[in-house]
Amino acid sequence: MFPEAKPDLNNPPVILAVGGLDPSGGAGLHADIKTITALGGHACSLVTLLTVQDSHRVYESHPMAVDVLESQLQKLVTDIPPLAVKAGALGNTDTVRWLANGFKRLQGQSFRVVDPVLKAGGGGSLSSSDMLSALRSELLAHTDLLTPNVLELFEITGEYNEASAIAMLFHLGVKHVLVTGGHDDTPNLIHNRLYTDDGQYQQWQIPRLAGEFHGTGCSLASAITTLAARGLPLPQAIEQAQDWITRCLKSAYKPGRGQWFLNSGTI
Ligand code: PLP
Repeated sequence: MFPEAKPDLNNPPVILAVGGLDPSGGAGLHADIKTITALGGHACSLVTLLTVQDSHRVYESHPMAVDVLESQLQKLVTDIPPLAVKAGALGNTDTVRWLANGFKRLQGQSFRVVDPVLKAGGGGSLSSSDMLSALRSELLAHTDLLTPNVLELFEITGEYNEASAIAMLFHLGVKHVLVTGGHDDTPNLIHNRLYTDDGQYQQWQIPRLAGEFHGTGCSLASAITTLAARGLPLPQAIEQAQDWITRCLKSAYKPGRGQWFLNSGTI
């Protein structure tokens, strides 16, 4: 995927995280930056939206101005070009369009990952129908890896059969889709499955741990992005990211009265 592996921790690969600010510190950019740092990357970040949120749920979401995001992106790519970009919560149609344009310009320079955040795990919407249609018509054509859970996969495509939904995503231009199985009805194991536009398929089973966790999706997508930027082929990056997340979940802590937070500081 990348021309050369860069495992050198003195020269960490630059990962740009684009997403929302969760003041509780469990999800969004906090989770991205902790993950990227723990796995040996250098995190840059662009704030797409501010949330009002605690460890229970999201109450409000306030998008940032896209002209500011564009100025920030232009300065960053000139000075600190990212080897990979990981996008999470985008919040509105303007932000999706802005990112689609940015991703188009980064084609061939950066590995572009979209973790579609449509709802917060604990409740609260972070999307709209206009935003979904911009995602379909503009952003997916410039997405190297999309990491939806099944609910997001169906909501994005409007197809309620996994094979048809994946076919539609490839038709729209996505290169790889990792469907995460956290929301599936499988009691003991989570099945994650990777589809590639050249027909390759691979799946993994990881233990399902009891509890309500905050920031799992953000952390998994950031871990895969960082490990891929460090030179691992995508299937190995996914496998190692899953192992790392499982360790973070096993040492999770509960700083508030709601969900458990991943302990991304321990390896
Ligand atoms: N990004 C932001 C800004 C959020 O507030 C949330 C939600 O809780 C998420 C992403 C999604 O978090 P998770 O990884 O738990 O799906």
